Amino acid sequence: MSTDPTTPLPPLKKGTLYLVATPIGNMEDITLRALRVLRECDLVAAEDTRHTGNLLRHFGITRPMVSYFKFNEAKRSTEFVGRLKAGEIIALVTDAGSPGISDPGTRVVQAVRAAGCTVEAIPGPCAFVAALTASGLPTDEFHFAGFLPHKSGQRANRLAKLSALPGTLVLYESPFRIERLIAELAVAFPTRQVVLARELTKKFEEWLHGTPLELAAEWKRRPRKGEFVVLISPANGGDSQPEPTFPDNAPPESDENCPESTASLEIDGDRDSSVR
Ligand code: SAM
Repeated sequence: MSTDPTTPLPPLKKGTLYLVATPIGNMEDITLRALRVLRECDLVAAEDTRHTGNLLRHFGITRPMVSYFKFNEAKRSTEFVGRLKAGEIIALVTDAGSPGISDPGTRVVQAVRAAGCTVEAIPGPCAFVAALTASGLPTDEFHFAGFLPHKSGQRANRLAKLSALPGTLVLYESPFRIERLIAELAVAFPTRQVVLARELTKKFEEWLHGTPLELAAEWKRRPRKGEFVVLISPANGGDSQPEPTFPDNAPPESDENCPESTASLEIDGDRDSSVR
């Protein structure tokens, strides 16, 4: 591959489905390649055309869009295969992050591959990768489980099964169920460290960590809204990477280079040092 920035990039490949990752909050996280594919494709397949319309407008891009989602993915897949076979280039996006990660996309990819067409990923933002890599928890082995089911019994069973797995456990949770999840973690993982990565890449990004009971107490003190990735430390701290050490409640004595340290969290403009 040439590293000379003046070398023109090869054109996009006709008849290819590009899976394009998009920002999870901060528009600056779009990649140059994502912008190029969105600009040059024949069709943008979007989970929600209004949402993606805002993204395209933000970058001054105008392309035809069509919506695909969980319940029309099979039908749309057939249409997309027809268009790819006719040589069109399709960019598939979701509302945020990487398509197929707790989002639609996988059925389209399977249908397109089964039809012998090409699929390429345009890598970029993904909430769980951002959360895991910045959490301080072991990254050498992890299990991403996405969203838990909604029903109480099923959630408890799933958590019990997940608790037996090695490595860091990573979950997604909606703002409406986060408090409930913390209470459930107190039963399934009472002694483990839990990290909550809230509103990643956004203005009020916040990191909270503690045992589930400590986090539950903090929620009572001040409930939070927003989007969350929930990370649970491995049973014995993990095998090959050091156990995480989180600062205690005391703010750092003098750390001008690290004003947003987790020991002294900045929350909606306030400084908060009550959660480790
Ligand atoms: N495909 C996306 C990805 O690659 O991360 C995930 C989509 S899933 C429908 C949405 C969930 O991802 C949210 O409920 C939350 O758990 C997590 N998430 C998305 N954006 C986030 C952010 N900025 N901060 C924290 N969690 C986020």
